[in-house]
Amino acid sequence: MITILDESFSQLNQFMTEKSFSKVFILVDENTHEYCLPLLLGNLETDLAFEILEIEAGEEMKNIQTANQLWEILTEMQADRKALIINLGGGVITDMGGFVASTYKRGIQFINIPTTLLSMCDASIGGKTGIDLMHYKNMVGTFSFPEQIYVYPRFLDTLPAKEVKSGFAEMLKHGLIADKKHWEDLIQLQHLDPVGIEPFIPQSMEIKQEVVNADFHEKNVRKTLNFGHTIGHAIESLCLQSENPILHGEAVALGMICESHLSYLEGLISKEDSDLIIENIQIYFSFIDLGDFKDEDIFSLLLNDKKNSDAKINFSLLSGIGSCVFDHQCSTENIQKSINFYKKLS
Ligand code: NAD
Ligand code: ZN
Repeated sequence: MITILDESFSQLNQFMTEKSFSKVFILVDENTHEYCLPLLLGNLETDLAFEILEIEAGEEMKNIQTANQLWEILTEMQADRKALIINLGGGVITDMGGFVASTYKRGIQFINIPTTLLSMCDASIGGKTGIDLMHYKNMVGTFSFPEQIYVYPRFLDTLPAKEVKSGFAEMLKHGLIADKKHWEDLIQLQHLDPVGIEPFIPQSMEIKQEVVNADFHEKNVRKTLNFGHTIGHAIESLCLQSENPILHGEAVALGMICESHLSYLEGLISKEDSDLIIENIQIYFSFIDLGDFKDEDIFSLLLNDKKNSDAKINFSLLSGIGSCVFDHQCSTENIQKSINFYKKLS
């Protein structure tokens, strides 16, 4: 269940009072420790003992070593099955904390308090937890729902502008795949500041929640959320290994440009719609140079995508602004063309 918190966090306090947890662990990274934890602790009214678990910030920490350290700390601190983990942070924290909670002692309860736009509108919702393996994103994980998701948009006030933009990419995606009005509302925004974006957060969360409710285990319609993520993830993985890592949302924006053009090449949308989408995404997201990446490396990652079956690359593509198809297999030629199209946008 998703709740927008009031200023005194009363819904969270009520939840904590009603449940009988043995101990509470609050997982933060160094930034959410500094910028978000004081607000949470200032509002938390509980007699329960709680411990702060801090990890370094960044995607590089979303790995088995960090998970192992957290499992060990939980063990040393004698966390039992009635312990609660509060994940206070962005998608790295909610993915990692959810993964650790859902596997420790075969699963303890956790709640998500997302503090980035991306985690509010996307990562904290939907019950996917996980960690990266080698240079593959989210290769190991579980499907496990948090007990609650508490959203407090004022956490965004300290979020760096580029992180706000990163989350905005997922909001645009929600509009493109499911809700034309949402897309149109978002592209009216001239400045991506938290105050301007805040009114549209509930709608974006609702789109994600509705899609997940319709297909929790990603057998069908949930796959539409992967729009922009097939090519986006491949580039994100390559950048992760390079000197210039990019943010998830930046990779998704790049992926949505390629995959909108691919939707047109595959005859699913008109050239006008594809161009309109691409022009608008370009207003917010600057060009990323793919010059250093070999096409065969991109294709090798595309072939390893989790969404594939029978050694074919499966895409979620647009069938209009606000509608999407999934499990669409494209010709290699068109995939290559869509990547070349992007390269020429510089
Ligand atoms: P993140 O968690 O790394 O947060 C981005 C940065 O912002 C970090 O440096 C963090 O410390 C900082 N930060 C967080 N909140 C802050 C605040 N309020 N003020 C100041 N700084 C703050 O990254 P993210 O963009 O939130 O999430 C990306 C991750 O989410 C990726 O690992 C991606 O795979 C995952 N993800 C998961 C799902 C899912 O369904 N599980 C969906 C989308 C993305
Ligand atoms: Zn994403």
